[in-house]
Amino acid sequence: MTSGSSSSPLSPPSIRRRGLMLVLSSPSGAGKTTISRALLAKDANIVMSVSATTRPPRPGEVEGEDYFFIERPRFDAMVQGGELLEHARVFDNHYGTPRAPVERALADGRDILFDIDWQGTQQLRQNARADLVSIFVLPPSVGELERRLRSRGQDSVEVVQKRMAKAGDEMSHWPEYDYIIVNVDLAGSVAAVEAILAAERLKRERQVGLADFVNGLRGQG
Ligand code: 5GP
Repeated sequence: MTSGSSSSPLSPPSIRRRGLMLVLSSPSGAGKTTISRALLAKDANIVMSVSATTRPPRPGEVEGEDYFFIERPRFDAMVQGGELLEHARVFDNHYGTPRAPVERALADGRDILFDIDWQGTQQLRQNARADLVSIFVLPPSVGELERRLRSRGQDSVEVVQKRMAKAGDEMSHWPEYDYIIVNVDLAGSVAAVEAILAAERLKRERQVGLADFVNGLRGQG
């Protein structure tokens, strides 16, 4: 995958930065979607990757904003045509990340936020290790997870039960992630994600042109 670059507000224009791929995963109901929305509202330099799914829309979900809602034959055609960067079956539905918008954003040097599960994260890690920063969000307790799933009021009792039953399996993947956040309160979790993002943006290997910049500094001395 090709990565572009953008200048950082903290750096002189001669230092450019590769875009990064920030993944947030969690068991359903742990709060990653709320954290993602808050982050997107605060940080103009990161865009959301909108997934394709065969899941029917929940009340209030918007086509092209929350997901691209598609039928199974179209999903299979996208898989066959290599149009998805990663894809996985989660619960009884299929989900995948459209490749083209991600490649465009990275080429423009923009960061991209992914709300995907552990299977998708593993696939991205194989394809784009250097550009990937992964965060796993845990609920403070199982009781709180269930309360959040129910209070969403978007899913049937059966769907909530299914998601609770899968939560333990999903949580077992925490050791595969770079960072872990226990989502005790939204503001604290958003601040933690912002801190991670700020540090990762400054990582030496993401900054292009450093050697020339330092040589220039040394030449001035
Ligand atoms: P939901 O149906 O609650 O929107 O999402 C169910 C799960 O699917 C969540 O854990 C979410 O992160 C995951 N998911 C959403 N989009 C994708 C995707 O494009 N790829 C993968 N692998 N998982 C996804």
